[in-house]
Amino acid sequence: MISDTLMGSFIWLLGLAVGSFLNVVLYRLPAGLSVGKPARSFCPRCKAAIRWYDNLPVLSWLLLRARCRNCQAPISVQYPLVEAVTGLAFVTTYHLLFVSQTRVGIDPSVNWPTDAPLLLAWLVLVAALVACSGMDLVSYMVDTRITDFAMYAGIVLYACWPRACFLQSTAAGPSAAAALAAFVVSGVLLLRASRKQLALEGAEKDSASDESEPDSGALAGDNSGPASKPTSAGVGAIAIAVFVGLSIWLLVTMINGSAGHAPPAAEPAVPAALLALFAATVIIGGQRRDVDAELHEAIEEEAPEARRLALRELRWLAGPMLAAAVAYGLVANVAAVNELWRGAILWPASSSFAPLGGAAYAIHGAMVGAAAGWALRIVFTLVFGREAFGVGDIYILAAAGAAGGWDIVLLGLLFSVGIAMAGWLAGLLLKSTSMIPFGPWLAIGFVAALWLNKPSAIVLGRYGDDIRVAWEMQPKLVFMGIGLMLVGSMFAVVIARLVRHFVEPKP
Ligand SMILES: [Zn+2]
Repeated sequence: MISDTLMGSFIWLLGLAVGSFLNVVLYRLPAGLSVGKPARSFCPRCKAAIRWYDNLPVLSWLLLRARCRNCQAPISVQYPLVEAVTGLAFVTTYHLLFVSQTRVGIDPSVNWPTDAPLLLAWLVLVAALVACSGMDLVSYMVDTRITDFAMYAGIVLYACWPRACFLQSTAAGPSAAAALAAFVVSGVLLLRASRKQLALEGAEKDSASDESEPDSGALAGDNSGPASKPTSAGVGAIAIAVFVGLSIWLLVTMINGSAGHAPPAAEPAVPAALLALFAATVIIGGQRRDVDAELHEAIEEEAPEARRLALRELRWLAGPMLAAAVAYGLVANVAAVNELWRGAILWPASSSFAPLGGAAYAIHGAMVGAAAGWALRIVFTLVFGREAFGVGDIYILAAAGAAGGWDIVLLGLLFSVGIAMAGWLAGLLLKSTSMIPFGPWLAIGFVAALWLNKPSAIVLGRYGDDIRVAWEMQPKLVFMGIGLMLVGSMFAVVIARLVRHFVEPKP
C-alpha cells in the first residue's frame, strides 16, 4: 500500500536522523563530553561548528567527499555508516511489525496509530542496539546508560499500549510477579552499588584531575575511529550504497503489499538486510584494535580469579532470585495474593489499556533476558574458568526483553549464538584473528527473531510439547538431553580452541 511506503519513508528518514544523533552519542559519551552541549556538531580538528547543510545524514558526507569544508580534515566513514545502518534497521523493523506482521500474538489487527507505542519501543531498542554495537566493536564496552534508557522506554511505552489482551496473557501469570520482585530487589542493590562506586570514583578523580586535561584534547584531535583510513573509505562507501539500496528496496516493495501479507518481492529483502549487517560486522569487527591485546591479557590475568568472581556474582544474584521465588510461590499458591495480582494487572478492567499489565509485561521480558544472560555467564565462567559473556551483554538482553518481550529475547539470544559462530567462521576465512564482540551478534539476532517469530513459535511450541510429554513420562530422558547438550557444547568449545590454536599466528 502507498500509505505503508509513505510511513516507511518517514521512518527511514527518522532512522537517518537518529543515526546522526547516535554518532554524537558514540563520539561524546566515551570521551566524557556532554551529549547536549554544545548543541551544534563541530569538526573534531578545527572545532568549527558544522552548518546544517553540511550535516545532512549520508548525503553531506558524499557531497563533501569525506572532508571538512573548513579545514579539509578527513571525516571518518563511521558517520555515514552509522546513519545508513540505523536507517536500514528502522525500515526493516517497521516492515516486520506493520507490513509483513511477523510478531506472534498481535495479528491480524496490527494497525496504526494504536500500535505506535510498540513501534516506538522497538525503534528505541534498535537505536540503542546500533549505538551499543558500535561501542562494542570499537572498544568492547557497552554504555549501560544507553541500554537502561531503552529498557525504561520499553516499560513506559508498553504501559501506554492499548492492547490489554496481548499484555495480560503474559503479565497476569506468576512468572511476571516473580520478575517484578527480582527487578525491584536488583534495582535497589544496583543503586546501592552505584552510590558506593560514585564515592570511589569521586575520590579517584580528585587525585587524577590534573593529568586528564591534556588527554581529552588529544582524544578530540585524534578522531580517527576504527575506519578512517583512506582504504576503508571506499569499502565504507560500498557498504553505505548497499544499506541505502536495501532500504529503498524495502520501501518500494511496500507499495504492492496488503495488510498482513508481505509482497513476494519483500521476502528476500529482509534476509538480505540481515546478511548485509552481518557482513558489515565481520568486516569492521575483523580489523585489529589496540584494545584486543589488552582485553586478551586482562582475561588471562583474571583467569585464576574468574571462578571466584562468578561465585561472588551468584551470591549477589541470590537476593533477586530469592525474591522472585517467594513472589512466584505466593501468586501461584495463595488464592488471595493471586487475585490481588490479577486485579492489578487487569486494571482498569473495562479498558483496552492495561498500564500495570504493560509495565509488568516489559519488566518480565527484561528479567527473562537478564536471567538468561546471567545463567550463560556464570555457567560458562564456572565450567571454563575464563570470564565469558560480558555484563554489558546482559544489559543489552534486559533492554531487548523490555522492548521486544520475553519470547523475542530468548529467541534472539538463541539465534545470536548461531550468528556469532557463523561470524567467527567467516572471520577465519578472511584470516582476521581479532575477536568480534558479542553485542552486534545480539543486535542482529533480535531482528532475526522478530522476522522468524511465527515459524519459530510453531517449531518451538512443538518441541515444548514433546519435552513436556517426555518430562511427564520419562523425566530421565530430559536430564539425559540436558547432559548431552552440556557435553556437546564443551566439545564445541574444545574444537574451537584447537582450531584457533592452529590458525592463529604465534606472537
Ligand atoms: Zn575542520
